[in-house]
Amino acid sequence: MALVALHATRRLPLDARAIPVPLMFPKPAPRVVARAAWDAIAANQRRSVYAAVDRRDAYRCVACRKPADPRAMEMTRHGHHHHITFRSQGGQHVTGNVCLLCPVCHADIHAHRLTIAGNADRKLTIERVTA
Ligand SMILES: [Zn+2]
Repeated sequence: MALVALHATRRLPLDARAIPVPLMFPKPAPRVVARAAWDAIAANQRRSVYAAVDRRDAYRCVACRKPADPRAMEMTRHGHHHHITFRSQGGQHVTGNVCLLCPVCHADIHAHRLTIAGNADRKLTIERVTA
């Protein structure tokens, strides 16, 4: 029995039996390494955008101006980061597309009782939806 590399199995006789043997310490594929590096950069970028949004919005809800601090443990004071154009709809993770909201206003947006549009770095249009 001999250990041969996968690409060398093409040269084996047709009647040879090949048993795949996993390597003890396989090197991660370059694609996997690249993805991990990309994730690390993305996480840093996420944090820095959120930190900039917190400072810009002064830890207050952009809709009702109540305190909204993402670091707060209290449910009523806990701030939520909201993507104005939802990420699911192609919204980018940039300060202009993220604003700080209190839990009540954030729930109102997703329940279509409140709308926010515009660029958070310039001017937002915030409207309560009246039934
Ligand atoms: Zn609010």
